Amino acid sequence: MAIVWVCRLGVDAYAELGRQLDVPRFECPLCGRPMARWGFYRRYLRVGIWCRRVWIRRQRCRACRRSHVVLPHGRLDEVGVIGEGTEAMVAGRGARKVAADLGLPHTTVRDWRRRFRSRAVLLAMGVAAAVVALAGTLPA
Ligand SMILES: [Zn+2]
Repeated sequence: MAIVWVCRLGVDAYAELGRQLDVPRFECPLCGRPMARWGFYRRYLRVGIWCRRVWIRRQRCRACRRSHVVLPHGRLDEVGVIGEGTEAMVAGRGARKVAADLGLPHTTVRDWRRRFRSRAVLLAMGVAAAVVALAGTLPA
């Protein structure tokens, strides 16, 4: 299972640190117990038209013995790029045009749209819950 880590480093700083990166230890998403560090693996992270190869930390639950990866950005593409593309599609621009604008494969942008659509209700519920928590009620 992948755990998305909100990493404050930019892509270059993250890549430069390599395996020296200090990733916080998380609790197991399956049983809630603390996990131990469990090595790394390498993967590509796309930044515009370039790809950087980065180390990804693994952690393993001592209780249920399952291993999990800790992704700094969650996807092959930077969250800022995904946000820009998703925002353009929400505004009515087609996935093919957004892909051309960003210099990415159409299938990548189409998959972002599918993922966003499949989670739209959950996202709306999260925003509504945040509004209620902050304001005490939802505006009519
Ligand atoms: Zn566990």
